[in-house]
Amino acid sequence: MNCTRCKLKAVMKLPRHNAAFCKACFNDFTHDQVGRAIRSESMFAKGDRILVAVSGGKDSLALWHILLTLGYPADALYVNLGIPGYSERSQEKVSRYAESVAVPLGATLHFHTVEKEEGAGIRELAQLVHRPTCSTCGTIKRYQFNRAAIEHEYDVMATGHNLDDEAARLLGNVLHWQTEYLDKQGPSLPASVDGFAKKVKPLYRLTERELAAYCVLNKIDYIVDECPMAQGARTLLYKDVLNRLETESPGTKQYFYWGFLDKQRKKEPGHAAMAEKDQTMLHPCSTCGQPTTADVCSYCKLIARAKNEVSR
Ligand code: SF4
Ligand SMILES: [Zn+2]
Ligand SMILES: [Zn+2]
Repeated sequence: MNCTRCKLKAVMKLPRHNAAFCKACFNDFTHDQVGRAIRSESMFAKGDRILVAVSGGKDSLALWHILLTLGYPADALYVNLGIPGYSERSQEKVSRYAESVAVPLGATLHFHTVEKEEGAGIRELAQLVHRPTCSTCGTIKRYQFNRAAIEHEYDVMATGHNLDDEAARLLGNVLHWQTEYLDKQGPSLPASVDGFAKKVKPLYRLTERELAAYCVLNKIDYIVDECPMAQGARTLLYKDVLNRLETESPGTKQYFYWGFLDKQRKKEPGHAAMAEKDQTMLHPCSTCGQPTTADVCSYCKLIARAKNEVSR
């Protein structure tokens, strides 16, 4: 099997593009896909300060690496969730990448430790407030990433969501006709109000398999295991179904998700109206000052509830 572009020996086959690439051409392909995503969705410009949400997994470390390689000033934030056996290993991967590659290139790695700042690990907090672990985790991560982005004055926050993640999420939203979530699903969500950072997903044109290959080829060491809390999650089932369709008919995932994005773009005026509506409904949380639709934001409510339970 030879490289479609330069005819040297190929190391990676890409059925959805009917192509095969050597290492150099595969890296070019990957960087080009990210560049296209950034430009077509107006995610950020050269000189904008970017904060990458890193978990130690392949996607977020690949994203940090690609942005630095493309010459963007990208720092990162790692949130240690306090999951025994998993958080230590994922933090180690992030720290090692930062020390060996990112920091020498001038980047900064910020840390947030849930056990230290919120008083208990994510599982204990979820038990205290009687909520599923992943929903508690989502509230804390969203809050801390947004807060760090605003406090350190980043222009935009980037996450490592890939084509598989976005197609699976779309499938879930369509299966349950969650139209309000469909309207908010996209690779570039503007900062609708002061106090909310702009959020972008520059990897939405690349699959999990391609990002794993990118890490291996570029010697980026990542945590292979999924978070133990993800077991049994619906998203994994949707990904499996989409992978089976992709094997039978290469390109299905991208047609599904990119087709959705094309349709959404044609509805842009509706989106602008929605952002305006959000703006009028949001005001500073009376406890922490972050924007919220209620008097107290969901993060402050969660922490107050957990503290109440402990003191009972
Ligand atoms: S699987 Fe759940 S607990 Fe683990 S990182 Fe994801 S949202 Fe958080
Ligand atoms: Zn080549
Ligand atoms: Zn608050």
